[in-house]
Amino acid sequence: METAKYKRVVLKLSGESLAGDQGFGINPAVVEDIAAQVKQVREHGIDVAIVVGGGNIWRGLAGSAKGMDRATADYMGMMATVMNALALQDALEKIEVDTRVQTAIEMRQVAELYIRRKAIRHMEKGRVVIFGAGTGNPYFSTDTTAALRAAEIEADVILMAKKGTDGIYDRDPNKYKDAKKFEALAYIEILNKGLAVMDSTATSLCMDNKIPLVVFNIDDHKNIVRAALGENIGTTVGG
Ligand code: UDP
Repeated sequence: METAKYKRVVLKLSGESLAGDQGFGINPAVVEDIAAQVKQVREHGIDVAIVVGGGNIWRGLAGSAKGMDRATADYMGMMATVMNALALQDALEKIEVDTRVQTAIEMRQVAELYIRRKAIRHMEKGRVVIFGAGTGNPYFSTDTTAALRAAEIEADVILMAKKGTDGIYDRDPNKYKDAKKFEALAYIEILNKGLAVMDSTATSLCMDNKIPLVVFNIDDHKNIVRAALGENIGTTVGG
């Protein structure tokens, strides 16, 4: 068995990554596949916390663009992430991976409330912790949640699984054939070049707290394990 480079990782799954090719909603087969990979990561003794997005169901910005109150639309987005968190928990527990969902908004019949020390304790006991409801605040994203939680639980890295792209490019590789992929880059370059990796709040939080990030393609089904084992896949961001 390979020696793991990381002791504790935050896996950021976009909502889209749970939708599979249908592009919307939750595809149980895809969720099962992700759960199987997370189980393998756990078998390497790596602590896993998951931050899940909600874009496969609802994005606050899309609602507000159509005239909804932004904060209300964002709370709907946070609810969407909880649906995804429960789907992931279900798939993980079906394959006997102990899992706790912690939400940033209290919904005690459904999940635990996010308590930092409790989250750490769960991981020490070998449980996977899934953080739902983002930061609990409108105007934020689940990328920012990943940065915040990674800092709080002292994770070694954020593993950011993307659909349809295998890393960070200097321009959109779907539009420009000569787009160049970065093997590694610094957070400040993301900000300066305006690269569409994650929003600037999340980028600054990672930069200020020196949390490394690996952006990789989730379409290849072995990549969560490979990224968690520290293989050079995708693009690494630091600095
Ligand atoms: N959201 C929020 N505050 C947070 C995290 C998320 O208001 O701290 C809302 C926001 O409306 C966002 C939606 O939840 O559009 C879904 O999250 P996100 O867009 O980050 O999901 P992803 O793109 O990763 O699927």
